[in-house]
Amino acid sequence: MSVRFTGKVALITGGGSGIGRATALAFAREGATVVVAGRQAEPLDETVTLIEAEGGRASAMPADVSSSEDVARLVTTTVERHGGLHIAFNNAGVLEAGPLADLDESAWDRQLSINVTGVFLCMRHEIAHMRANGGGVIVNTASNLGAHMRLPFLGAYAASKAAVSTLTRAAAMEYIGEGIRINAISPGPIETSMSLRPGETEADRAERLKSALPIGRAGTLDEAAAAVLWLASPEAGFTVGHDLVVDGGASA
Ligand code: NAD
Repeated sequence: MSVRFTGKVALITGGGSGIGRATALAFAREGATVVVAGRQAEPLDETVTLIEAEGGRASAMPADVSSSEDVARLVTTTVERHGGLHIAFNNAGVLEAGPLADLDESAWDRQLSINVTGVFLCMRHEIAHMRANGGGVIVNTASNLGAHMRLPFLGAYAASKAAVSTLTRAAAMEYIGEGIRINAISPGPIETSMSLRPGETEADRAERLKSALPIGRAGTLDEAAAAVLWLASPEAGFTVGHDLVVDGGASA
């Protein structure tokens, strides 16, 4: 097995569940010390326990990515606790569906403040540390819906994720000269609760995706994590400002 991240410290937001937890485990398996952040302590602690059970190193830090104060503290504490910050996976996000004209304005605000402002704040504080400490790597989680809108009732979410893709390209251009390599992943439906429609079971989703996606199934957590690890690895050293679509052909 390759071990690409020995000696690196990786910060992962939304690390208490889904893609964030799977990616945290994958980074730890490849030698990184992992910090998982999210709003609630309990799921983060569970991720740490899973990593430690496999012999990895990890710690948990509750933080709300839409709070600049929280994110600043997250970066400072990560560096104090583990001696650096080399890789950041800005992955926390929320999805609230609804026809645009009927969507609560608070649902619009939440998706923009967590999905977009959250990524902005994370990059802002991460870049401030990385540019003063020899560079680093950042991967943001966008969505294939940002570039390829094909489902109704997800306008606010899709707009927020399009902004993540755009912000990623802008930041990538601005900071690659300072040794900070920034990219994004744009997943399609991955096997987490976020890709379940209201009232849908996992079996229902599997049935729906047989015909809705060219590949005929949801993406696995490992497939999403593998894309993040590749972008964060030295193998992707010339890949800058890329939005890696991982969607089973949905937007092909
Ligand atoms: P998930 O709900 O398991 O993960 C989202 C995580 O973000 C949770 O751990 C949640 O606690 C955290 N979070 C939410 N608001 C936060 C905040 N204010 N501060 C800190 N943490 C916060 O779902 P997931 O599928 O693992 O989603 C991970 C990312 O992938 C999200 O950005 C999501 O939009 C994106 N995505 C998911 C899919 C999919 O089909 N699952 C597809 C495309 C993109």
